[in-house]
Amino acid sequence: MTPALGRALERFVLPNACVACDRAVPAHEPDALVCGVCRTRLRTVPEGCGRCGQPLPPIGPCRFCRDWDDALDRARSAVWLDAPARAMVHHLKYDSLPGLGTDIGAVMTRRLPRPAGGILVPVPLARPRHRARGYNQAAAIARALGLRWRVPVREALLSRIRDTATQTALTPEARAANVAHAFAARAAGRRSAPVILVDDVLTTGATLVAAARALREAGWPAVTAVTFARALPYDLRAAG
Ligand SMILES: [Zn+2]
Ligand SMILES: [Zn+2]
Repeated sequence: MTPALGRALERFVLPNACVACDRAVPAHEPDALVCGVCRTRLRTVPEGCGRCGQPLPPIGPCRFCRDWDDALDRARSAVWLDAPARAMVHHLKYDSLPGLGTDIGAVMTRRLPRPAGGILVPVPLARPRHRARGYNQAAAIARALGLRWRVPVREALLSRIRDTATQTALTPEARAANVAHAFAARAAGRRSAPVILVDDVLTTGATLVAAARALREAGWPAVTAVTFARALPYDLRAAG
């Protein structure tokens, strides 16, 4: 099915309402799955740590990326994962709405700088999960970014060789152990480009770091990451 047809079908089976607040989507934006009010309620993550993008503590160095493997050079997220962003991610993942990738990609390109070059690589799902969902939500976002930024998307470059238990209830340390060695990357050729990983949410960064490690070991020269949303600092404390 073509993306345009998929989107038309989504529109047909869904009421013309915003996925985040149920208000009607304005008639002049018939394709939008998120209304303008919710889009303006999305809060941009302010520029913080040069490496991970997390706001810096009042004193001292960044603690957020302190334990990250150096395989991942840099990570940026467009918005905080609060109500509207959370609803968008939830519907993208669990309600068979890959078309939301287009809305999410539009939010990201408005709030993140366009990369100077490189290739976009979505964080893959393990095969059984991909099959069950029918699509990879990170790939839906990567394709939207690729169109807007005019950067190639290479979906097949990275695969998930091990499905990992859900990360939600794990401490940051346990998350890192849980995803280590979960990814395999195709070997970089002689003309390999910097990789920009794409994912829906950054929580502790453990998944992106593990994916970056696999890419670096396969010879890719540099790995950075962009995500749509970033977990709120108090959610992380609650997670341990
Ligand atoms: Zn709305
Ligand atoms: Zn940092």
